[in-house]
Amino acid sequence: MLAWSGSDRASRLPRDWPRRRARILRRDPVCGVCQRAPSTEVDHITPGDDHSDANLQGICTPCHASKSGREGGRAAAARRASAYRPTEPHPGLIER
Ligand SMILES: [Zn+2]
Repeated sequence: MLAWSGSDRASRLPRDWPRRRARILRRDPVCGVCQRAPSTEVDHITPGDDHSDANLQGICTPCHASKSGREGGRAAAARRASAYRPTEPHPGLIER
């Protein structure tokens, strides 16, 4: 592993990202998720700072959007969990 541990930014891309991206799209001309649509983007198989070829795959836009959406949802859920505070009772439930 490279010494990325000092970084807390999960989405930082390496300087040569455009070249890596082009290389992955040449290597994976077909989407690695649905195996049908042509790859138009490059996806991190495991989200994070691993930008090695082994962790990248060609992906089509719809698959990337749905995958990123799920990952974003998990991150948002984690943020919500860590920032948890009791919610106020629903106004309809307050006894009078
Ligand atoms: Zn796809």
